[in-house]
Order: sequence, then structure tokens, then C-alpha cells
Amino acid sequence: MNSNHFLSIILPAYNEQDNILYAFDVISNILSSASIPFELIFIDDGSGDMTYQNIQILSSKNPQVKGICFSRNFGKEAAIFAGLEASTGDCCLIMDCDLQHPAELIPEMYRLWQDGYEVVEGVKASRGKENFLHTLCANSFYHIISKASGIDMSKTSDFKLLDRKAVDSLLAMPERAPFFRALSSWIGFRTISIPFHVKERENGTSKWSVWKLIKYAIRNITSFSGAPLQFVTFLGWVMFLCSIGLGIQSLYRYFTGTALEGFTTVILLQLLIGSVLMISLGIIGHYISRIYDEIKARPRYLITKKCGF
Ligand code: UDP
Ligand code: MG
Repeated sequence: MNSNHFLSIILPAYNEQDNILYAFDVISNILSSASIPFELIFIDDGSGDMTYQNIQILSSKNPQVKGICFSRNFGKEAAIFAGLEASTGDCCLIMDCDLQHPAELIPEMYRLWQDGYEVVEGVKASRGKENFLHTLCANSFYHIISKASGIDMSKTSDFKLLDRKAVDSLLAMPERAPFFRALSSWIGFRTISIPFHVKERENGTSKWSVWKLIKYAIRNITSFSGAPLQFVTFLGWVMFLCSIGLGIQSLYRYFTGTALEGFTTVILLQLLIGSVLMISLGIIGHYISRIYDEIKARPRYLITKKCGF
């Protein structure tokens, strides 16, 4: 295959002012020595710092650098999709601009793509330094979503190289709240995984608080799977089985004349049924709100400024 195929690199950036120039230096050095033609697309996801200014400065000096600025923080998924939409390369690579995804692997991923693989996915061989709570949350999230979607996602990451065909099929999906990591497995295509070790962040801090992660997890589980709704049915059956047991016991007491006790049981049942109903309504309500969001069909993101295009 022709070695001059063009690679688009997509870098979502949220308050990453110190990483922009650094990421460009590292990536462009690696790609130039591997003689891979490329463009770098930075997506400023509504940062409050100098991220976009730095992108603009960089882009005015380097024609390979392009920048997109969101009108507010729309989240990493939106940033990835904006990057894919703006990309013109024969293949696209998505990576974090804090360089926790090792740029040294790009030439190898590119070669795999040239060998005919349409999706080259980076798989976490280790998660790098994280606090215990974060690892615990991440593990339970991946456990649930892997079970729910039937795709093992415990080690997946957003570090992926996608062929133009794969990019176009992702962009053709009308979902308002896409979950990139899962969708890019769902689309299939000829896929190969390549293990990598998550590096430590060079500058700045992680943008994820525990609360943001929980919201992200719930949003992505429900955007990809209806399993929580089945859980409601499951709860219903459990309650039904309990009610048969308790029903038989109550009738037995009634006919043997020992009824009228069991006030505690009544209170416990009230509480249990009440909470099961509330939880179930909550789950159903959540899906309705997701349907509501999808039906409004608002854009995934809004762009205020662009540079380098
Ligand atoms: N990011 C983003 N929007 C957000 C949060 C994060 O574009 O709302 C970007 C961030 O700039 C970085 C990547 O997503 O390039 C990964 O974020 P971070 O390093 O904070 O996450 P972690 O590596 O800790 O999982
Ligand atoms: Mg990071």
C-alpha cells in the first residue's frame, strides 16, 4: 500500500493549556521521523484557561495544526465526534492530549492500518497511577457495561486508530449521546488490539471528579444498553415470589386463627415495596429522559471558533 496515506490525529482538550505545545512537539517528532503525513486537530471543549489561545498560536505557525473551539463544555465524547467530523485523513487516531496514551505507538498502529486493519484499538495493559476509589469505580463500571452490552470493555480505551470507513459509519449514527468506546467496538470491521501502558499525566490534573465519573457511567450504560430496564422486571419477579411466600403464610395464619400479629412485617413490606417501586420508576424515568433528549435532536456540540481549516 502507498505509504503516503494521511493520518488525522484528534485530541480533545479541556483546560489543557500546558499540554498543547508539548503534545504537538512529541507527536510531530515521532510522526516526522516515521515519515507519516498528518494533521492534528485539537478540540477545545469549553476550557476556561488559555487552551484555545495556545492552539491558535500553534496553528498560525504550523499548517498541520487545526483547532475547534466549543461554546461550552460538551464532554469528551462530543469533542471526539467533532474531531472525526472535521478530519480529512484516510485514517483517524483519537488520543488524550495529556499524552497518557503513548504517542510512540502511533507508527506501529499506522502500520497495522496499512496492513489492512480497519480498527486498531489501544488496550490498557495497566491503568497507570490512580487512586483506589477511582480504580474501584472504573472496574465496577466496566463490569456492568461489559455484562450489559456483551462486549468486554474492561481494558478498552479511547486510544484508537480508525479507517475512514469506520469513521464514516460512526458519523452516520444519529445518536445524540454516543459512547465512542462502545460504538467503535459495536461497528465491527477488521479489528486488532494493541496493548499499552497508561502513562502518568505530564501537566495539569485529571478532569474527572468522582461525581462526573458516576454521571458518565450512568449516561453511557443507559445509552448503550436496556439492561437496567430488565432489572426492573427482575425486581418485579423477586417481589412476586416473596409475595407468594408471605401470602401463603398470612392465609395459613388467618385460617388457624393466629392472624393480627405481624405489624412489623406490614411496615417492612411497605418500605420494601415503596423503595422497589421508586427505584423502578427512577430507572424507567431515566430512559424516558434519554428518549426526550434524543427526540429534541439538539446538536451534539456547538462550535464558536475554528482555526487552521
Ligand atoms: N476531556 C475533554 N472534556 C472533558 C473532560 C476531559 O475533552 O469534559 C479531555 C481531556 O482534556 C483529556 C482527555 O479528555 O485530553 C482525558 O481526560 P483526563 O486526562 O482528564 O482523564 P483521565 O486520563 O484522568 O481519565
Ligand atoms: Mg488523562
